[in-house]
Amino acid sequence: DSSSAAAKSEADGDNKTTDDDDKEDKAAQSLLNKLIRNNLVNNTNQVEVLQKDPNSPLYSVKSFEELRLKPQLLQGVYGMGFNRPSKIQETALPMMLAEPPQNLIAQSQSGTGKTAAFVLAMLSHVDPNNKYPQCLCVSPTYELALQTGKVIEQMGKHYPEVRLVYAIRGNKLQRGMKLQEQIVIGTPGTMLDWCAKFKFIDPKKIKVFVLDEADVMIATQGHQDQSIRIQRMLPKNCQMLLFSATFEETVWNFAQRIVPDPNIIKLKREEETLDTIKQYYVLCNSREEKFQALCNIYGAITIAQAMIFCHTRKTAGWLAGELSREGHQVALLSGEMQVEQRAAVIDRFRDGKEKVLVTTNVCARGIDVEQVSVVINFDLPVDKDGNPDNETYLHRIGRTGRFGKRGLAINMVDSRMSMNILNKIQEHFSKKIEKLDTDDLDEIE
Ligand code: ADP
Repeated sequence: DSSSAAAKSEADGDNKTTDDDDKEDKAAQSLLNKLIRNNLVNNTNQVEVLQKDPNSPLYSVKSFEELRLKPQLLQGVYGMGFNRPSKIQETALPMMLAEPPQNLIAQSQSGTGKTAAFVLAMLSHVDPNNKYPQCLCVSPTYELALQTGKVIEQMGKHYPEVRLVYAIRGNKLQRGMKLQEQIVIGTPGTMLDWCAKFKFIDPKKIKVFVLDEADVMIATQGHQDQSIRIQRMLPKNCQMLLFSATFEETVWNFAQRIVPDPNIIKLKREEETLDTIKQYYVLCNSREEKFQALCNIYGAITIAQAMIFCHTRKTAGWLAGELSREGHQVALLSGEMQVEQRAAVIDRFRDGKEKVLVTTNVCARGIDVEQVSVVINFDLPVDKDGNPDNETYLHRIGRTGRFGKRGLAINMVDSRMSMNILNKIQEHFSKKIEKLDTDDLDEIE
């Protein structure tokens, strides 16, 4: 509805987010990550494993052959361009494919191969000769369910006997009918209705239950209860699998209610550091002076690609306009854009079609554009109370371990307040941020 959209747009612009926005934001962020990611993230950390039975041997595989997959599935995996299992897949896949199947809780950041792993497990466990649902997979939103559905279709390309149906609002079925598809993927509310109210699915025949994006899931009122109610209808020997990108206490409590006797796998996020980054600040008196300083920097040094962060949509829009008037190829990423549009903008920037990406803080949270060498904070990152947002600062500017290239970060300061924030950020990381004189720029080259 347009009035709430307007309210949201204002909130976004002012960086005041309500809980509702947060939920929407989490799901949108997750979708954005899926849309822009076409390979695995690099991660040099060790996988931590906690086995249900610590005495049982721990298998891990280095190749897909070792998993003895059905030939059609192996073909599907290679057809997707996968050569070997990802780090999390090395241990997760043997557990999920073991006989008898084991329950699993797995946590690792987005882009580490969780979806591909559970899709392979579902496809391995179904019997295509049985024309009834055998695997249920619940996702927090319709769009996320569709993304997982696409992976099932790709991986199952050579296994067409296995069929898939979406349990999402709007997909209305005739009363009294029984589903014949082996895999059902959808949102918790509709899935529960299809099991309990309409009985399109016989939950007693389910062999694998997957709950994806648990952290996004629990942010939505009702999803937790619905998921638990579905889980309670499933047989004792049904395999339960739960995945999450992050693992706060609340997610953990929920996970334990969904997955009895779990094996647990965790892969920590690669830590980011500021060690390979040169950090500067520029002192200005107004927005216009900040823009002028930016132009001076551009005139003095060659910048392959830069990302520029602004606090509000309004500033971002204004700055993008000014920069293109100066002849720069600018892309603008803004909160009112659909997730798909945002993904398209990021893709173009990734491909080098635009050299400058101007974005708001809220919009760019959580996205990684690894090759960008220059990051400019046109406004410093602050949280909703106006305090320095150290985490965002680090994620925006920092690089991860051995993949880290050298980088340059420039912070624009235009008031006593922003100087204060800069000082706090400097203190927090105990790393000096040097003053830069934009009339004399020899030093940064
Ligand atoms: P997650 O669910 O953890 O976000 P995905 O399963 O979506 O991760 O994988 C992230 C990206 O990496 C996807 O583009 C996927 O196709 C790709 N991918 C997954 N597993 C492998 C693999 N073993 N080898 C190469 N690419 C992979």
